Amino acid sequence: MSFVPVNEPVLDGNEEKYLVDCVRSGWISSEGPYVARFEEGLAARVGRRHGVAVANGSVALEMAVAALGLKDGDEVILPAFTIISCATAVVRAGAVPVLADCDPLTWNMEPDRVRACITPRTRAIMMVHIYGLPTDMDPILALAREHGLKIIEDAAEMHGQTYRQRPCGSFGDISIFSFYPNKHITTGEGGMLVTDDLQLAERCRSLRNLCFKAEQRFVHDELGWNFRMSNLQAALGVAQLERLDEFVARKRRMGARYTELLAGTAGLQLPLPATEYAENIYWVFGVVLDDDVDMDARAAMQRLAQQGIGTRPFFWPMHEQPVFQKMGLFAGERHPVAERIARRGFYLPSGLALTDGQIERSATALREVLA
Ligand SMILES: *Cc1c(COP(=O)(O)O)cnc(C)c1O
Repeated sequence: MSFVPVNEPVLDGNEEKYLVDCVRSGWISSEGPYVARFEEGLAARVGRRHGVAVANGSVALEMAVAALGLKDGDEVILPAFTIISCATAVVRAGAVPVLADCDPLTWNMEPDRVRACITPRTRAIMMVHIYGLPTDMDPILALAREHGLKIIEDAAEMHGQTYRQRPCGSFGDISIFSFYPNKHITTGEGGMLVTDDLQLAERCRSLRNLCFKAEQRFVHDELGWNFRMSNLQAALGVAQLERLDEFVARKRRMGARYTELLAGTAGLQLPLPATEYAENIYWVFGVVLDDDVDMDARAAMQRLAQQGIGTRPFFWPMHEQPVFQKMGLFAGERHPVAERIARRGFYLPSGLALTDGQIERSATALREVLA
């Protein structure tokens, strides 16, 4: 039987037509018209004034840290349970990452733990919505107001999601998205920063483009990067954005179907379908094995692979990353929830191209592995 891949994107809308348009018109670099169209479209979709398209979500985080002027010893609070891009962005800027553990049910950073991390040197909170449910924003926004902290919102996994009816991506001083092929909308590789602040947007545009000076090109006051997005990527983005609602509805149906098929399976924690502030959009369908299951995520994933089911492990906690340990970061820290779900959690095939039959096969295989 064929392998069920962990992710396969859906590209059967206007993607091809817009790409052909790029090729025929000769506009293939970042100068082409789709870039601004994509920036305006996504920014409008999340209710922001400005969008700055970039090469990927990881560099969008680096640029957000740089644009907010975080540096030398500034403390930035972020989740222990996230992708390394978040901590990398802070460390590369010379700022200090401070980790907060996550909630065992939503897997998102817990507001009370964020509060406990605040010191006189705290400058910003980088909050990251994980897997399908947003972080509980109100308490975090209140903390930021109370202590004068900047918010960087990583909404890479949250296209089309809302928190109490407000779009994810609308909460940060700067918010970022990724368009990697496993995200709800993809450009192959790509990312975007969105903000309401014109100065921050202009700063990001400059950082993205080597900090060329408007008055005299090839003269630079500052170091930037070439993190531009090409017109080809943006053409895909415009086509994908046209279908965002459809994709979110599809992911929700997939999540509901998995939930139906797996409900009541002994030893298995499923994603929460909803909290009081949001309905899950199931960027991925993650599961966590109970402590009394005599198998960890790695063993379960191996057995699923033998049955032709692709999976991915959960994130590995930041304080347990060898690269940061070598740098002397997070010595002796414990974040028990992140540590536990990293060892016991993984996600099932979750791509938009997944069929009902593949969902059933994946769920059946998991039930058998656990039986
Ligand atoms: C995917 C992802 C990123 C990184 O995006 P890339 O485009 O792959 O660099 C950052 N943060 C989160 C939460 C992600 O899921």
